[in-house]
Amino acid sequence: MIVIIRPDVSKEKIEHLIKWLGDKKLIVKEFHGREQCVLGLIGNTKLIDKDMLTSLDIVESVSDMTETFKASNRKLHPDDSILHLASGDGPTIGGGSFALIAGPCSVESREQIISVARDVKDAGANFLRGGAFKPRTSPYDFQGMGSEGLDLLLEARTETGLPIVTELMYLQDMDEFVEKKIDVIQIGARNTQNYDLLKELGKSTRAPILLKRGLAGTIKELLMSAEYIMANGNENVILCERGIRTYEQDYARNTLDLSAVPILKNLTHLPVIVDPSHATGRADLVPSMTLAAIAAGADGIIVEVHNDPKNALCDGAQSLTPKAFAELSVRIDKLRDALK
Ligand code: PEP
Ligand code: MN
Repeated sequence: MIVIIRPDVSKEKIEHLIKWLGDKKLIVKEFHGREQCVLGLIGNTKLIDKDMLTSLDIVESVSDMTETFKASNRKLHPDDSILHLASGDGPTIGGGSFALIAGPCSVESREQIISVARDVKDAGANFLRGGAFKPRTSPYDFQGMGSEGLDLLLEARTETGLPIVTELMYLQDMDEFVEKKIDVIQIGARNTQNYDLLKELGKSTRAPILLKRGLAGTIKELLMSAEYIMANGNENVILCERGIRTYEQDYARNTLDLSAVPILKNLTHLPVIVDPSHATGRADLVPSMTLAAIAAGADGIIVEVHNDPKNALCDGAQSLTPKAFAELSVRIDKLRDALK
């Protein structure tokens, strides 16, 4: 249920109402905009007499929230959310700041990650990506460097100052991610509906969670996965469109659903980013899909960059060279200026 408070109502009166609603065992989410205060009621709202609530002199209107996703619903929070890193410094995400996340699919060695980190930073990236724990389709493929890879990412962070984005695959590694203060925890497409993992991400950390859309996931399923994290206490979720499985298999790894960007931006207040690398599987398609994603309203891009794509241990075909990334970054800036 959404309760819109009349303008110029005192804080005390609003707090009084919130307490009364809280006593009815409802979760009350408050949004204080410049002109408007919105209260979102989550829980058994049947216990509330809607007409009585509407008749209160401090209430402008009351409406039902029919959507199953609540905490991420834009009706509850009309402005874009702006996410902060747990450290309190570094770039923010959403609400007009653009996240340019770049780096290799996987961390392969100290030389590789440090060199790519320096290159993407010089080209304008504000986050470094790199997988240490890799979900590979084949058990015979490189599975990632694990904890050692995480430590190399930390070294790259110290070296460049770039906050890091890396994938958590298993519940048992959660403590390590929290102890090592991983800046942004990625949940990959294969784990988007791992609800135990999502619940724990809500409870154990306030680090932003970069949540990918499932391999064949619907938009609603993505929103409900975000809800698992938010309902358990961590409201810092970034949604990521990374292409979905369709009948097209010959010319692109996945089908990039760019309409998901404006759809999600309309439905939720969470930042929405796009991964053009996994969406296409082809480095030659990455620049055009990146620009298209920005034109569609994306709050950021996560893109794979490798110093030697031909010999990459993972996803070389979709990885940009540092030079191609630098060229793309210039085009991103030009497009963002033009869209202002
Ligand atoms: C990745 O970002 O390296 C990755 C494995 O992505 P996805 O989960 O989208 O396949
Ligand atoms: Mn990859």
